[in-house]
Amino acid sequence: TQAQIGVTGLAVMGRNLARNLARNGFTVAVHNRTAARTDALVAEFGEEGDFVATRTAKEFVAALERPRRLVVMVKAGEPTDAVIDEFAPLLEPGDMIIDGGNAHFADTRRRERLLRERDLHFVGTGISGGEEGALHGPSIMPGGSAESYAVLGPILERIAAKAEDGTPCVSHVGPDGAGHFVKMVHNGIEYADMQLIGEAYQLLRDVAGYTPGRISDIFRTWNTGRLDSYLIEITAEVLAHVDEYTGKPFVDVVADAAEQKGTGRWTVQTALDLGVPVSGIAEAVFARSLSGHVPLREASRSLEGPTPRALSEEEAAAFADRVEQALYASKIMSYTQGFHEITAGAEEYGWGIDPGAVAALWRGGCIIRAAFLDRIRAAYDTRPDLPSLLSDATFAREVADAQDDWREVMVAATRQGVPAPGFAAALAYYDALRAERLPAALVQGQRDFFGAHTYRRTDREGSFHTLWGGDRSEVEA
Ligand code: NDP
Repeated sequence: TQAQIGVTGLAVMGRNLARNLARNGFTVAVHNRTAARTDALVAEFGEEGDFVATRTAKEFVAALERPRRLVVMVKAGEPTDAVIDEFAPLLEPGDMIIDGGNAHFADTRRRERLLRERDLHFVGTGISGGEEGALHGPSIMPGGSAESYAVLGPILERIAAKAEDGTPCVSHVGPDGAGHFVKMVHNGIEYADMQLIGEAYQLLRDVAGYTPGRISDIFRTWNTGRLDSYLIEITAEVLAHVDEYTGKPFVDVVADAAEQKGTGRWTVQTALDLGVPVSGIAEAVFARSLSGHVPLREASRSLEGPTPRALSEEEAAAFADRVEQALYASKIMSYTQGFHEITAGAEEYGWGIDPGAVAALWRGGCIIRAAFLDRIRAAYDTRPDLPSLLSDATFAREVADAQDDWREVMVAATRQGVPAPGFAAALAYYDALRAERLPAALVQGQRDFFGAHTYRRTDREGSFHTLWGGDRSEVEA
């Protein structure tokens, strides 16, 4: 029998994806550069389904039914190109290479173009959910041609996570790099969500004076409301965990230097190129960089802060409720920014992405899965050309209702000297969008003064320049 699909690259992700496919009844050809991994997979999990173990690229390709569906789960970057170079010459027109690694969408666009010239489909596919997701059902974001999705989609729909209403968390995002682009922004939003949750924790600890155990209970309660999400759920778990060696809260023995693999950074770099303000996501990336900057932090430890002020038990409880409001409102800002980047990318690259469908496929399987995403989908369903999530009446109302508490939290953070860059950036974004007039008018004046860059007026069409070095009269540029 020939395999319906093949997976090459059998480290944690590839192995679990292959098992997920086999458990769902597909015959799966498996291959890895180092054959020991292939052998280990079959030895350990061969009972789970039909695997066809192959040793060489030729054997692997020969094991697949046509059109071939070949999933690549290798280390992103040069290894992906090496694997494509190895397999593409062995494939025939109509076959498809599905790259499930965390590739940069620009690389995916390049690879797709090259393979299209050879009549091969290249399906850059975002996969989220880590190793557990790969095994039990990830959120899957495939790009590539609609034609390839017609052949591949039914398989992906079987192995994807299912949202609460039973819909598989996979759909064709758009052509070429669209899938990897959306996965990138997913990760950017994930960075922002994690940072905001981190700030909420820090405020509850340093302003309210709560212990990690108590904060864990608060997160558990929040998880039963509108903040219901995987990240809040695991935060409660992490905060409740006690270190087995010292008996201290686990968070107190972990080095406070956050690492990153780069997808958050890509989200911000891409946003800079597209001219999309993603300040919340950027602050999250910067906060990780700052945390890991040991010399900078050591050199700054003697800087003075404000005089601390302890809250009464009643004040602390009221403050905790306010933090929930601030967290929720800030979260809406990060998603507003992330979805703005998606629509801007879709426009720049002609992808025609449906933002509501993106929200729908993040409802299950992925790290940012949350009840909240159903509401984002509903907002875009009601109005597909929604210019911003904040143009949706429900979200606008919720933020308006949260804002007094949100501002109070910022006052407390500032007064007590607790850094909350994510909350602050989110609030500044909200206030900037609300503003009737921005100081950008003054910036235009400055630019015209030193560089004759010209400006537009509010009352007349055209570009103008003031003769700053002369009699300061205005001329039409
Ligand atoms: P790794 O990223 O650690 O990659 C290891 C795999 O790549 C091994 O199978 C290795 O083969 C293979 N490989 C490396 N270099 C080459 C090469 N030059 N030629 C052929 N094969 C090569 O594995 P993961 O399972 O963690 O991740 C796989 C992909 O999935 C990555 O792109 C990752 O970014 C992405 N991803 C990972 C997630 C996670 O939670 N880990 C989540 C979502 C996506 P060998 O055994 O021979 O060394």
